[in-house]
Amino acid sequence: MKKLLCVLLTVCIALSCAAPVFAAQKTCDCGNLPIVLVSGMGVLPFSLNPGTPKETVVFPPQPDIKGIVLRATGGLFRTIVSFSMQPLADAVAEIALELLGPMACDADGNSLYNVAPALIEGAMSEKDASLYEDAGEAEFAIIRSAVQAVGADHVYYYNFDWRLDPLTNADDLDAYIRRVQQETGHGKVRLAACSMGGVQTMAYLQKYGHDSVDTIWFLSAAFCGLLFVTNVFSGELQFNQEAFFGWLQTLEVGSDKTDALFDRAMDWCAHTKLLRPLFRLLNRLTDALNAVVVDDVIRHTLSTMPGMWTFVRDDRYEEDKRVMLPHNASETFVRRIDAYHYDVFNHREEILNAAASDGVQIVVFSHYNNGCVPITSSALAHGDNLIETTCSSGGATVADYGTTLGADYVQRAHKEHNHLSADGVIDASTCMFPDSTWFIKNMAHVGCRKNSAYAEMLRWMFSQQTQPTVFSDARYPQFLQTDGKTQMTLAPVQ
Ligand SMILES: [Zn+2]
Ligand SMILES: [Zn+2]
Repeated sequence: MKKLLCVLLTVCIALSCAAPVFAAQKTCDCGNLPIVLVSGMGVLPFSLNPGTPKETVVFPPQPDIKGIVLRATGGLFRTIVSFSMQPLADAVAEIALELLGPMACDADGNSLYNVAPALIEGAMSEKDASLYEDAGEAEFAIIRSAVQAVGADHVYYYNFDWRLDPLTNADDLDAYIRRVQQETGHGKVRLAACSMGGVQTMAYLQKYGHDSVDTIWFLSAAFCGLLFVTNVFSGELQFNQEAFFGWLQTLEVGSDKTDALFDRAMDWCAHTKLLRPLFRLLNRLTDALNAVVVDDVIRHTLSTMPGMWTFVRDDRYEEDKRVMLPHNASETFVRRIDAYHYDVFNHREEILNAAASDGVQIVVFSHYNNGCVPITSSALAHGDNLIETTCSSGGATVADYGTTLGADYVQRAHKEHNHLSADGVIDASTCMFPDSTWFIKNMAHVGCRKNSAYAEMLRWMFSQQTQPTVFSDARYPQFLQTDGKTQMTLAPVQ
């Protein structure tokens, strides 16, 4: 009897504790599901010793330009007098290590130093609206479109330590999504995965499934890897004069006088015969450069971060591991990067198709004609300054920069629709989701500008309740282009 009383008492106490939790469960019938923007890398700063008086920003690096120029010049001088590349190479490696070193991870792939990103948590209604109202471009301009579509109390920003293992980070994203569900009173969320946010979203879907997810928008997302990281990690370096300066040119957007001058200068550099010997020399010295870049810099910085390995595509993954694993990489490190590669990356199509067949809406935004990071053989691929178009689109067939697929080219799949761009550059029929993948020509990586036509298109996208397709709205066909300078307009590709 005493035992029974005890049990009853315990049940009563448990229920009375649980009651406030049940009472706090609100539901919202506003019809707009909350939007969580899953951020990319490099948007918010990382600090050393965060929260202490000794806190200092270490990423993006805060270079001491004067010191760098002095040391580089010293290295160059010693190179000239000694007829050896080594002094210059050493100086460059020392500078690069100093800039990137604080971000390095340890043998297991955890942060080596007490370094962490600034985190923005909670609904936008709890933030100062200037955070997104004053944002001229990129993620917070996208947040602004989302706020316009569903209201600040239904829009959340999620950022994370992108250096670390995304499958470990997925636990944190899962907790965040549950928090958003509880705070907004909606059973599902919609994820806007920007750039590396695509990696984090894929890791979450693999680990936690898609039951809490209504929609995924991949915006310039790295969910299918990056060609140039794949190439660099296998020790490949190649320099193409035209691609190199063409890429520098696309980095400058804006319309003032200095930009026009810069453009002309880059254009001249891209084509002048005077620089050809320099590029021939660079390509002959790639072994020496590699010895510095790979051994002294990347193996101590970028390749110590499990997050960087999520970009490596399958065709070179094992080769890249042989070349680029940090010297001290532990079994835990290898297990972590293998888990993402073999369980998430190589199953990306299955993971997304399973979500789509359960009714999860999937939309992809991919940009082209803005160049690729020109340090490997993928320099002539189309890209958005950073991610190659074939990757950010989920598998489009894309002609090399400056060429077309050819007059005789026949669309490969989905023949009931036209998925060829009018400029002959893209066949979207080979994408994972050919009917809900949009291509924006001349648009930069995550290039959403405040009050632009693109921002308006995103507001439209965020307002759609059912799966939009490239046939849903005549204003928004599959292939659109913006004016590369202002990035404010949108018109169908001609
Ligand atoms: Zn609501
Ligand atoms: Zn189709």
